[in-house]
Amino acid sequence: MSIKRDIPVITTVAEMHAWVANQRSLGHTIGCIPTMGYLHDGHASLIREASARHQSVVISIFVNPTQFGPSEDFERYPRDLDRDLSVVAEADGSIVFAPTVDEMYPNGPQSTIHVDGVTEMLEGALRPTHFDGVATVVSLLFEAMLPDEAFFGQKDLQQTLVIRRMVESSPIAAVRRVKITIMPTQREADGLARSSRNVYLTKEERALAPAIHQALIAAVNAITSGERSREVLEALMLRKLQTVDRFTIDYAVAVDAQTLLPKETYDQDDTVALCIAARIGRTRLIDNELIGVTG
Ligand code: AMP
Repeated sequence: MSIKRDIPVITTVAEMHAWVANQRSLGHTIGCIPTMGYLHDGHASLIREASARHQSVVISIFVNPTQFGPSEDFERYPRDLDRDLSVVAEADGSIVFAPTVDEMYPNGPQSTIHVDGVTEMLEGALRPTHFDGVATVVSLLFEAMLPDEAFFGQKDLQQTLVIRRMVESSPIAAVRRVKITIMPTQREADGLARSSRNVYLTKEERALAPAIHQALIAAVNAITSGERSREVLEALMLRKLQTVDRFTIDYAVAVDAQTLLPKETYDQDDTVALCIAARIGRTRLIDNELIGVTG
């Protein structure tokens, strides 16, 4: 039998600051996990790690309108706060911060944080305003939750690089002091990366979706067996993906993991980021694997 605690939900920045002050007065450190809700085992793994490291763990649930493009899925993004609260309780989180759009952007989204460089390729090239939305909201969420450490998933690899850069260069001391920790991607048994958007998949699409991870693993195996050429690795991933004619492939690339820029060949001590984005039906899926080059 499991006994579930009730998880308090805070909706305003003022209440959030009062809670943080109280936790600090108890000598607690604070971990936070920014999310858009509809929580799954990927989120739960971040919450569990935060709870192992901090006495107080706050999970933000905010579907941030400014990171969605005009033709993207903001309106239909799945939302279920009750379900989320039971995931938070199971994973040993302390509270949920679930602000409204007005609370986060009281005067509308008037000023934006833009990170240069690492925002330009891959997701940034296809979703031109996405990372401005992400960098801005994460900075605002950090100012609200004032955490010591924040946990993100490798699933959104480019996002982790953008957030690290945003924090390092932030003029706001409370943002600059946040330690950023990246956790491994949690997968379904057949390799599909867990994602809130998987709920959009029809049964047939769900059966085809693991081909993305299979393509990544084929490239990982090729690197392990000595392949070093970007062109060969990318062709291999494309070939695997093209076996599913329902996919529309946005990209399937082998890039340097630090810069997300392509190199013609990868050398010893490089880490290669294998990154795929593909659409199937109404669902856009992204996934990646990191692999170090040895020998
Ligand atoms: P989201 O709610 O999709 O914005 O995700 C919130 C956080 O959970 C982000 O840092 C994601 O990278 C992370 N996350 C999402 N899916 C997974 C997963 N399958 N494994 C690990 N972390 C994940």
